[in-house]
Amino acid sequence: MKQSISEFDLIRRYFTRATPGAVLGVGDDAALLRVAGGMELAVSTDMLVSGTHFLPDADPFLLGHKALAVNLSDLAAMGAAPRWALLALSVPEADENWLQKFSAGFFACADRHGVELVGGDTTRGPLNLCVTIMGEVPQGTALRRSGAQLGDDIWVSGRLGDAALALAHLQGRVELTAEEFAACALRLHRPEPRLELGLALRGVAHSAIDISDGLLADLGHILECSNVGAGIRFDALPVSSVLRPYLAQATGKHCALAGGDDYELCFTAAVARRSAVEDISGKLDLPLSRIGTIVQDGGCTVHAADGGIIDIGESGYDHFA
Ligand code: ADP
Ligand code: MG
Repeated sequence: MKQSISEFDLIRRYFTRATPGAVLGVGDDAALLRVAGGMELAVSTDMLVSGTHFLPDADPFLLGHKALAVNLSDLAAMGAAPRWALLALSVPEADENWLQKFSAGFFACADRHGVELVGGDTTRGPLNLCVTIMGEVPQGTALRRSGAQLGDDIWVSGRLGDAALALAHLQGRVELTAEEFAACALRLHRPEPRLELGLALRGVAHSAIDISDGLLADLGHILECSNVGAGIRFDALPVSSVLRPYLAQATGKHCALAGGDDYELCFTAAVARRSAVEDISGKLDLPLSRIGTIVQDGGCTVHAADGGIIDIGESGYDHFA
């Protein structure tokens, strides 16, 4: 990178922090990491592309947060505890104001969740943020998509659809008040990975996934990987007071069932674990809602309160569809 600030200075100034949890962090050809005995390394990567996942003028602090948060959400869905991250960054120019804010947002999220940035790559090019996250999980205890069992309850954390409702407002499909929009936009721009929930669900849930592409799409992955089907009760879906009035409309249904970007967890657990799940909800002060049941097969059926079936057509965000 040939700029006013050198690539080396840029990395040192904005992306180099102490990494007491690593044998070696930023600055050599590779980081050195030691996984504790009896643990498995959970590794995942997620890319945010300008124009696809965010607008080029998006707030850099929030982007820094989100680039890490969406990766942490994948660890949460595995029941893994976050440890280390790598950041591969392509930026059109070395804009120090932008880099300072992006790095502050990234490290604010990292500090809150005990993540150390141990390396990455920095190049000039179209704005593109790629984070690789690493976490630890005791051997054999990770939550997988493939573990759902017949008769399991289906649960989701938090509230669904607010991020999609904020997007619908930005696209002029609904009109929210300033206050309503602010509440929903927070979910869109500042997702909170459900890490404590993921850890608490080890040994309780049979399967789990994070909801990044919408409930139906992501639950669909559990169903496919587990070779089962699902029945969902539409009235049981947890939605905010902002989204609730829209549920009678197609836009509202779509937000709740197929809205992406909420980063809540969807998981299944045996009926016998209901009180264990409710205890977790109380301890974490996080709503956990029982929205349906795992059935033999037949994909996912969404039942309305009047006995009808809700079909919203295409069921999630697919980059290539
Ligand atoms: P190399 O040429 O061997 O790939 P680099 O010059 O790309 O090395 O990187 C030097 C060091 O800085 C490496 O330790 C690398 O992991 C780290 N690094 C580069 N970019 C970033 C970044 N955006 N965030 C964190 N660490 C980075
Ligand atoms: Mg490099």
